[in-house]
Amino acid sequence: MPIEKIDTLVVGAGQAGVAMSEHLGKAGIPHLVLERDRIAERWRTGRWDSLVANGPAWHDRFPGMEFPGDAEEFVAKDDVADYFEAYAKQVDAPIRTGVDVTEVRRNVGRAGFHVETSKGAIEARNVVVATGAFQCPVVPPVVPKDADIMQLHSYDYRNPDQLLDGAVMVVGAGSSGVQIADELMRAGRQVFLSVGPHDRPPRSYRGRDFVWWLGVLGMWDLAAPVPGAEHVTIAVSGARGGETIDFRELAAAGMTLVGRTETYTDGVLKFADDLNDNIAHGDASHLAMLEAADAYIARNGLDFPEEPEARTRLPDPECMTNPLRQLDLADAGVTSIIWATGFSQDFSWLKVDAFDADGKPDHQRGVSTEPGIYFLGLPWQSRRGSTFIWGVWHDAKYLADQISIQRMYAQYSGPNDT
Ligand SMILES: Cc1cc2nc3c(=O)[nH]c(=O)nc-3n(C[C@H](O)[C@H](O)[C@H](O)COP(=O)(O)OP(=O)(O)OC[C@H]3O[C@@H](n4cnc5c(N)ncnc54)[C@H](O)[C@@H]3O)c2cc1C
Repeated sequence: MPIEKIDTLVVGAGQAGVAMSEHLGKAGIPHLVLERDRIAERWRTGRWDSLVANGPAWHDRFPGMEFPGDAEEFVAKDDVADYFEAYAKQVDAPIRTGVDVTEVRRNVGRAGFHVETSKGAIEARNVVVATGAFQCPVVPPVVPKDADIMQLHSYDYRNPDQLLDGAVMVVGAGSSGVQIADELMRAGRQVFLSVGPHDRPPRSYRGRDFVWWLGVLGMWDLAAPVPGAEHVTIAVSGARGGETIDFRELAAAGMTLVGRTETYTDGVLKFADDLNDNIAHGDASHLAMLEAADAYIARNGLDFPEEPEARTRLPDPECMTNPLRQLDLADAGVTSIIWATGFSQDFSWLKVDAFDADGKPDHQRGVSTEPGIYFLGLPWQSRRGSTFIWGVWHDAKYLADQISIQRMYAQYSGPNDT
């Protein structure tokens, strides 16, 4: 049987794959999208039950379709998945689901790639890797796997009932950790939250959501993280209609904040002496955004309501004035640890020359060092917004343009062509 051939193969049909298909379709580039599960599977089954989008519906979407319902609403994760399914239909995306791409190798002596899948081989001139930035849960090697305590990553957390009775230690206070810790506390659990370096933007300020502020202040478009802030996570939430994350408020409601989790010995976790520094950094980022917003309002002569209460702060709670440096988990009744400690990516199936010495994609705005291999949806691929719904659509547009340019060169057959 002749091997199936396609100009451009897209691997993954999350939001990145769907956006890529839209732009390839518009550019008239024959393509196929292969997805091992279902369209937008990660939004459907790879997140906790109560998750809603971090940005309001008017913002966290593609330009070609609005969410049904209130544009200011924070859309539930299953509705986000439905949206991408509907979007794929609207743009007539050629997506094959239930097909796992297991290997991509470059052809020898001719252009293109040999692609092995769970449903047979395919030849592709180009391959766009849209397999997601939040792919493989990362758990730092602090507590041995066989320690006598339930451990799970935020990727596997679904709801409070999944955990054993008792107190919970949540490690990591980015958007996932802080939302999960809050949900557990509201469910009546005693919660310890290990807080690392973070930014803490206001959910909204002077009548505009922070996604709007990031937009007008050019912060979605930042090309690279501010030096020294590469590992700083953002604590933001769309839960209950959107709220500013305030660690002092969480502590006042009963949560115990601790510094970064460092070591574990004989059932005792030890924490770095950095809780107050981390909270202070978050406060400074919060204030910097309020000031940038005020300056923008003044510069543009906007009549936005004043909001002085955005600058008020609760007193430091006991867990900040006298921070715990260690915790005997059994004594504290802690029966589970949730690691909200981020993700890595698996490119082991991609046997091409598109990686740097550290095994990270070597690319410029998604165009890799291996001609014909493109990445989409990487953190900071072209800008801060690259992994987000809003940003990936624009990166996909750029990649479709780059693929079109290369097709033009490939089709040129020399000066004697008539
Ligand atoms: C908890 C959480 C909340 C988030 N909330 C928001 C938010 O509110 N707003 C926002 O803009 N962004 C949010 N993001 C960031 C981002 O929008 C999502 O992670 C989104 O799922 C990324 O889309 P993607 O298409 O790049 O990757 P994914 O959604 O991960 O899609 C990749 C797809 O590739 C498939 N795949 C992988 N490998 C293969 C293979 N070898 N063969 C075939 N198929 C394969 C997977 O099955 C998957 O369906 C959030 C991220 C997380 C972790």
